[in-house]
Amino acid sequence: MSNGESPGLYIHVPFCRTKCPYCDFYSVTSLSLIPDWLDGLRKEAVFYKDHFAAFDSIYLGGGTPTLLAEHELAALMDCLFNNFTFSPDTEITIEANPDDITLDKLGVLRGIGVNRISFGVQSFDDKELQYLRRSGFEGQTEAGWVQTIKRALDFRPEHLSCYQMTLEEGTPFGKMLAQGRMKLLGEEEEREFFLLTSRLLEKEGYIHYEISNFAMGKEYISRHNSKYWRHVPYLGLGPAAHSFREDVRWWNLGSIESYCKALVYGKLPVAGSETLSEEQHRLESLYLGFRTSAGVDLELVRNQPRFDMILSELQESGLVQVHMGRAIPTREGFLVADSLPLLFADW
Ligand code: SF4
Repeated sequence: MSNGESPGLYIHVPFCRTKCPYCDFYSVTSLSLIPDWLDGLRKEAVFYKDHFAAFDSIYLGGGTPTLLAEHELAALMDCLFNNFTFSPDTEITIEANPDDITLDKLGVLRGIGVNRISFGVQSFDDKELQYLRRSGFEGQTEAGWVQTIKRALDFRPEHLSCYQMTLEEGTPFGKMLAQGRMKLLGEEEEREFFLLTSRLLEKEGYIHYEISNFAMGKEYISRHNSKYWRHVPYLGLGPAAHSFREDVRWWNLGSIESYCKALVYGKLPVAGSETLSEEQHRLESLYLGFRTSAGVDLELVRNQPRFDMILSELQESGLVQVHMGRAIPTREGFLVADSLPLLFADW
């Protein structure tokens, strides 16, 4: 499926003003490291020059890329355009903190070619925001969540991503969970939140095209993120960035210091890599496919023992529909998406 599709380019901008207590992404608050990071990026880009076909998506993620000053953003884009080729209609996305966005900043982003801004919002409810910043308040309620979605809808966004907060070990919230000072939603509540969100947004005209993603029309589906779900090649630059090409996945050193040091010594800052076997590739395709409304090509599962029976049971229980040779998860199917591939595993 990935054959011939243009690759995507991801840039990890690992800087944030403060560190959120639930965040597991690599980012630092020492903005004085920005020049070193930019130098590192310039060196890393040279390594991959001429190694990828023309990209048709750039994603500036983080971290908080909108923290970068105008000259830093311009230097970053210069580095990309000097080393790589891009199709004329390249999708250029930046993750933005609403606090950083002023009219001036929007002009700057437009000026460097950004045509898609992804705003990160934790909640529009003050009480919930307080909860996220320090613990001790009640967590998110269904009513609070509905309010937050409705508030988001007031802006008529073309695209919405709704993620359930996960508490990763090692984050302050993860530690509080381990100490019993925080609790997560129960399975049933989680299910209710998910179904409610999906129904509400579909009623408003959004396509629920991936477990956590909704688009106002096909043209607003994230081109860049869709590559991750279909094994389309992508190159990630910056500390902790991941890349994928021809069944090889590799990832960079996870700190600015070690990343820059490797590059200063003329080495690629790669921390590790793995090559997918044919079966791993197939299972990943199932895992990723069942998380999207594109579903899974039946050819990927047809040779499995009891294929017909499993598929009929999934259809009867309303978890999957079959359409044009593909098994498509329903809204309820999304809820068990991670278990569906196991039914077709080659044990
Ligand atoms: S702003 Fe985003 S990347 Fe930065 S600490 Fe918070 S959640 Fe993590």
